[in-house]
This record gives sequence, C-alpha cells and structure tokens, in this order.
Amino acid sequence: MGELSALFAPDRVAVVGATERQGSVGRALVENLAEFDGEVVPVNPNCETVCGLSTVDGVGEAGADLAVVAVPASAVLDVVREAAEAGIRNVVVISAGFGEAGGEGVARERDLTTLADEYDLNVVGPNCLGVISTPVGLNATFAPRMAPTGAVSFLSQSGAFVTAVLDWAADHGVGFKDVVSLGNKAILDESDFVDTWGDDEETDVIVGYLEAIEDGRRFVDVAREVTRETPVVVVKSGRTEAGAQAASSHTGAMAGRDRAYEAGLREAGVVRTDTVQDLFDAARVLAGQPVPETDGVAVVTNAGGPGVMATDAVGEVPLSLAEFENVTLDRLRDCLPEGANVYNPVDVIGDADSDRMCTALDAVLADDAVGAAVVIAAPTATLDYDDLAADVADLQASHGLPVTTCLMGGERARRAEDVLEGAGIPNYFDPARAVGSLGTLSRYREIREREPATPTTYDVDREAARAVLERARDRGTTRLGVEAMPLLDAYGIPTPAGEVVDSPVEALDVAERIDGPVVMKIVSPDILHKSDIGGVKVGVSQEAVYDAFEDLVTRARNYQPDATILGVQVQEMVEMDAGVETIAGTNRDPQFGPLVLFGLGGVFVEVMEDTALRLAPLAESTAREMLDEIDAAPLLSGARGRDPVDKAAVAETLGRLSQLVTDFPAILELDVNPLVANPDGVQAVDLRLTVDPDSL
Ligand code: ADP
Ligand code: MG
Repeated sequence: MGELSALFAPDRVAVVGATERQGSVGRALVENLAEFDGEVVPVNPNCETVCGLSTVDGVGEAGADLAVVAVPASAVLDVVREAAEAGIRNVVVISAGFGEAGGEGVARERDLTTLADEYDLNVVGPNCLGVISTPVGLNATFAPRMAPTGAVSFLSQSGAFVTAVLDWAADHGVGFKDVVSLGNKAILDESDFVDTWGDDEETDVIVGYLEAIEDGRRFVDVAREVTRETPVVVVKSGRTEAGAQAASSHTGAMAGRDRAYEAGLREAGVVRTDTVQDLFDAARVLAGQPVPETDGVAVVTNAGGPGVMATDAVGEVPLSLAEFENVTLDRLRDCLPEGANVYNPVDVIGDADSDRMCTALDAVLADDAVGAAVVIAAPTATLDYDDLAADVADLQASHGLPVTTCLMGGERARRAEDVLEGAGIPNYFDPARAVGSLGTLSRYREIREREPATPTTYDVDREAARAVLERARDRGTTRLGVEAMPLLDAYGIPTPAGEVVDSPVEALDVAERIDGPVVMKIVSPDILHKSDIGGVKVGVSQEAVYDAFEDLVTRARNYQPDATILGVQVQEMVEMDAGVETIAGTNRDPQFGPLVLFGLGGVFVEVMEDTALRLAPLAESTAREMLDEIDAAPLLSGARGRDPVDKAAVAETLGRLSQLVTDFPAILELDVNPLVANPDGVQAVDLRLTVDPDSL
C-alpha cells in the first residue's frame, strides 16, 4: 500500500462511468467534482462531453492519479486493471455488487483484492459513497452536498450515515478535512485511515462510525500511537449484540463480543460513545476547545435549577467542582450583588446582564483551581444573548481554557450559538451535555497522558506447560479440569498441594501427606460445574476420605452413567475466612485475540457479572487497574475491618495467565475460579480450560 495522503490530494481525477443521465451516480460524481481545484476527466466511450467536460474513451488515457469507478460490478475489474496499468495508484470503487451481494460478488471482491495487491493499489470500497477532502475542494462522492470545511476527519462504514452527517454538520458547527466512506473495506480499512490522519497536520480530530473492526490487533497498534497526538472518537454499533460463541467457561460467557471491543478500544485510547449525538458532541468539543490542565470545573449561571443540574452532571465525568481561592471569592463579592452565590456553582442571579456574568466568568477563569468552565443562562429581559456570546468567546480565547455553554432558548439562543460555534465553543440546551463534553476533554487528557504500558514478562517453564497440553491432546480431550493444575505450576501461579488419584487407597495416601482435613473433587471432562452435582467435598477428615471417594464416584455415575471419570482430586484446604473468591480467566476473541478477565468469583460468578476485561499480554499496571475497576473492589481493599488482600499477587497472577494464553494459542478459554485472594497471597483452587489440539 502506498502513501495514502495522495488519495485525498490528487491532481487529476478520472470518473469512470461518467454520464449526463439524470439521477445517475455517474452524473452526481461529475457535478460534485465541479468545485475541485484540479482537473476532472470523465471517462465514457459513448459520448464526447459530460457536463461540458471532454471525455476520454478509457481510464488508461485519462492521465489521472485518482480513478473513481462507478460502472456496473461486472466491468469494475477490467477498469481497475486498466487504471493500474496506466500507473494510477488510487482508486475509489463506488460500484456495488461485491461481497455484500453474496455469490459471484464474493469472488469478484476477492479478485479485486488480488489485483490491488498485485499493483500495490490504494482502493477505497467497493460499495461505498466515495471520498471528500475539503482543502482541495474534492468531492468524489454522490452525496447531495459537500462537507463544510474544518479539522475533523471522518470515516464511516455506512454510506447513508455519511450523507446524513454532512447534512446535519452544516448547521451544527462541525467542519471536515477528509471524509471517507469505507464500503466493504476490501483493501483499505479504518486502521489505514486512522494511521494516515494521525500524521495529517490539518486533522485535529478523527471520528469514526464502525460496525466491525476486522483486524482488531492492528487497529489497536495503530490507534495507540495516533491517540497520543490526535483524539479518535468512535461510535461502534452493536453494543447489545449477544455473545455469539457457545461458551463453555465463565470467562467465555462473560467476555462477549462487545466487551472485547470495549477492551480493544480502551487499549487503543479511543473515546467510544454510545450514540451518534455523543459522537459529534465529542468531535465538536475536541476540535474547538483545548484539553483542561486541571480537573476543577467552574459553573457560572443566572438560574439556580440548571446550575444544580450541571453540578450533578460533574459527578458523572472525570471532573470535580473547583473550590475557589480567596482572591477569586473576593473578586466575585465585588462584582456580584447581595444574594448572589460566590461559591461554585456561581449564581449571578436572575437580573444579571452580560457584563455581570462575564465579570464573574473572568474571575473564575483566572483561578488556578479552575481548568474549565460552563456558562449556563436562561433568557431574561436583562440578559442580551448576543453580547453574552461575543464576550464569552473573547474570555475563552484570552484565558485559553476550555469553555462550553448552555444558553437556553429558541431564536435568540440560535443566533448566539452561531457566534459561539464560530469560536469553537459548543452550546447545548441541556446543562448535562455541556458538562459531558468537558468530561470528554478530560477523558482525552487521561488518554494522552497515560504511560505506554509494556507487557510484563515472567520467568516460566514453557516446556512443562507444553507437556501438559500435549498429554491432553494425546488423550484426545479438548476440555481439561483440575488434572491440568501442573499448567499453573509451570507458569508460577500458586496452587494448593493436591493430586488426582483413581482409588480410595491412593486418596488416603495423599490425604495423609497433607496436614489436616482435605478437599475432594470429582475429576471428569463431562462435569463442568462440579459442586452442582455434589462433586466437591470440603473439610474431609482422614477417616472420611475412603467413603468420600466412593461417594463422589457414585454421584458422578448417577449424574451421567457414561461420564469419563479421570479420578478424584485430593487437595489441601485453603484458608477462606480472610479471603475473597475471585475469578481470573482468559478468552480468545476473533478480532482482538487473547483477553484476560478478572472479577468476583465463586459459584455465583455469572449471577454477579462483576468483571474487568483487557487485552493480553498485560502490563502489571494494567492488571492493577482491573482490580480497581470492579464494583467489588472495596472487598479487596479490606471492607468492614478485614485485612486487605494481597493485590500485587492477584495482579501478578493475571499477568502470568496473560503470558500463558499469549504463549499458547491452543488455549481457547481458561478459568481459574476461584482464585482465592488472601492477605498473604493467592491460591488457584480450581481450573478449567478448553484447548484446540490442532494449534499445539
Ligand atoms: P466447581 O467450580 O466445579 O464447582 P471448585 O473446585 O471451584 O468446583 O469448588 C467449588 C467451591 O468449593 C469453591 O468455590 C470454594 O468455595 C470451595 N473450595 C474448593 N476447593 C477448595 C479448597 N481447596 N479449599 C477451600 N475451599 C475450596
Ligand atoms: Mg470452580
């Protein structure tokens, strides 16, 4: 793939399939290209001119450096080959009738990919709306309008969404540098454009509408770098999509597809939004306002109620209400009348004019504790919105701190909004959205400032682990249980002493070597949840070991007469009173690869679903983050006078497990549940995993 920036800044564009036929894509393309700074060459062997431009017979004669192809699908490959032979490297295939059409289309798309590889072509599409680049007036799309000029570059997997957004953006102060409709993404995909725009001086914010990310790992690698300099905001549809895989482990059941995206986008440093509205709220504020250097927000309002709403909203974002310095309070007392509130949220009261509001705003923006401000106004007879908008814009510029506004109302608010938007200040009707967009700025600051997390590596015995997996393969099993505990030993994860035996006599022998009562568990690949069938006995005394063995086997037989029984595990008792049962697991996502899950464990794990998920391999600092993220985090820190558990040992275990799944792609899913976390360390008490014998 060559340098992509040329795609957006060609000298000469060939439109293959150009025609004057009313309502055709070919005509819309030529008309839309009328404003292009460079040359436009219509390609059509059947007529002399199209819309006043002389045609050529074939794309090979156009002398172009970008070909936009809108011919029937069956003719596309020949056109692209001809273009490639003529030295054109950038091609936009608008035509549909490829992968999305099934059947023949799938083969055609494959051939297009092969062709692109052969000639090293940059191909957008097929089945797309086209590309736009505003600095050169390039509108190589059949959208009904050109994008307004600005610093947002936008990629979309849906062409329909592009047209809707361009229409909407014109009225909402969002302007674009480049726009690309990705179509089927046969060759170029989201990673390619994020990469390109990351190096583009004229792009301040990258915005994406995505339905899927095919190569999740590549996207993460690319975006992780780009987001250090340029914010990337993505709305990804399909949040509620049910976990598609038939999962046999807890981790598999809980680490569904959308959670994998969540983990991937987080790792990539992408700001993910839930709605399209939030997507462009984020784009607007990131393009228009600087990021706050401190977390304190000041609220200045002429109305009590909306001020309270804004204050509530501050609690929902990574910001706090600033506590003003004394000099600020004095300045506010000087400029505000009796009855006004000088503390944050500052209430300048209902009879305030624009001067009073802005004097207060000037005072709070000068305060060192203030990193950002929200101005909230309800329309009154004394307040002139035009003045207010102009003065707020001036103050924002002179202080250089981010400001958002909530000038409520109808016509007069809309006029003020135009002035504010001209200054890059987004205005909202809802105080919560005004605060929310400051929250986006502060989330981006966190992303920009985070340390690059290098995966931690541990000393492990890889060969011993491989031997365990190979033994399972030789037995022809894909599901492993506690008999595979040596796998954890090999990776330095603490396990209680124990052994799998196949007679009551051996069981007694093992129990005698373990001090005190033991735990006994049935070991069978056919029994997933041992305690569900009474297959776990805790606190078995030596005298009871013999009978317990017989009883466990009987229970298993009753449950499933033909179950394969590998034996009974006799295990050391683990101290539970001061401990917390957690789950540590791994899973493999088709797009994002190995993932690590951590949460509250035990037998009710799926009922609670209190888990954190990250991409493997993990940096230990990331593992520590996972511990803090779950709702049950206070339990780990020693709730109700208990001692805190050994968090470092838990984090290390997550790190070691992440190394294990990274080293062995054959491990599809793995659960350690419970991983008992105690004040003085951890113990992996139970293990279950699914392996793919063919990838060993
Ligand atoms: P399963 O999940 O298949 O039912 P486990 O081995 O996880 O089987 O055991 C179920 C529960 O029994 C655990 O969640 C834990 O509460 C308890 N348990 C299991 N092994 C031990 C042990 N060695 N020491 C103390 N408690 C244990
Ligand atoms: Mg268990």
